[in-house]
Amino acid sequence: MIKSPVLDPLATSIQRAEICQILGETYNQERWNDWRWQMRHRLTKLEQFQQLLQLTPAEERGLLIAPEKFAVAITPHFASLLDPKDPLCPLRLQVIPREEELIVSSTDLVDPCGEDRDTPVPGLVHRYPDRVLLLALDTCAAYCRYCTRSRLVSQGEMQPVMRRLDAIVAYLEEHTEVRDVLISGGDPLLMSDEPLDNLLRRLRGIPHLEFIRIGSRVPSFLPQRITPELVALLRKHRVWLSLHFCHVRELTPEVAQACDRLADGGIPLGSQTVLLKGVNDSEEALKNLFHGLLKLRVRPYYLYQCDPVVGTAHLRTSVQTGINLISKLRGHTTGYAVPTYVIDAPGGGGKVPIQAETLLAYENGKATVRNWIGKTYTYVDPIEAD
Ligand SMILES: *Cc1c(COP(=O)(O)O)cnc(C)c1O
Repeated sequence: MIKSPVLDPLATSIQRAEICQILGETYNQERWNDWRWQMRHRLTKLEQFQQLLQLTPAEERGLLIAPEKFAVAITPHFASLLDPKDPLCPLRLQVIPREEELIVSSTDLVDPCGEDRDTPVPGLVHRYPDRVLLLALDTCAAYCRYCTRSRLVSQGEMQPVMRRLDAIVAYLEEHTEVRDVLISGGDPLLMSDEPLDNLLRRLRGIPHLEFIRIGSRVPSFLPQRITPELVALLRKHRVWLSLHFCHVRELTPEVAQACDRLADGGIPLGSQTVLLKGVNDSEEALKNLFHGLLKLRVRPYYLYQCDPVVGTAHLRTSVQTGINLISKLRGHTTGYAVPTYVIDAPGGGGKVPIQAETLLAYENGKATVRNWIGKTYTYVDPIEAD
């Protein structure tokens, strides 16, 4: 067992026994470590959060009104990591709604990435020629307040994938140009082993599908789900995993164990992070997170500019902030620790990488480039270049 890379004392500031008491249970380690117990005992009600945290008026009003549109649910595991006294706790900001969620600005969108228009069969987004996004369920272990798919998850808007599977498989069999399937949220790892095994087996039966990956926040919200049986199943179907972490305090000993199991099981691990105001919009926060992930053998893949989803303006930074932050990482630390910063172009343009300009000029076979500390250099093309 490796040592957890970071364990902030605050990360254990709410006792498990205290959470169990709010739930009307007595703490029992075995039950706590059972992912189904965790799912059955998610915290969802204002009264529970009033006992758990010192709520601000903005949080109280958020908890009262937000669930009508987009559910609030937090696993006991994740709840135990929240700082009860600090409303600016970076984990609390991700999962406890505030009344600002009710503010809708004119440029906010319900379907920010224009997925619905690229949906040929329910729950399948086909935007890029060679790869598709398959939406698994309409539930997640906990609900991120900045969710890009809040229009679909938590409110019974989508049938589970197993009921839509015949239509999806028929579409994929017909579209031989598709070589890559990304199964994503609502969280696919909330499926039980047997249906998940069946789903992956059906997909693996399509000869032109070379690459299957799952996008999941379960390792952060519900690390108990990463059982040896699940790892064996993912390994059998040669699946890659894209995890989702936003702050280093999510990397608890349980999460380290889950990542260890996955990495030891031969599952390639990437991570996606959403840039969020007050959560991770500093050089220090991003570095700590990305370094923490590398220690767990997880490669940071994308850093997303937060999508303009309705009611998320209070969590979004400017693009300039993102550019400045990524410039402080690129070249300043391990290349593997630097994800690609992208804007998922509103309206359905797909992911567009963003960085400060490094190619200052390129004329007559001469490229003028700027390095990580702002110095300028020239690269000259070979004379017989194409
Ligand atoms: C992100 C995404 C993919 C996968 O894109 P990669 O750059 O290959 O990770 C595929 N389809 C849709 C609709 C997506 O949003």
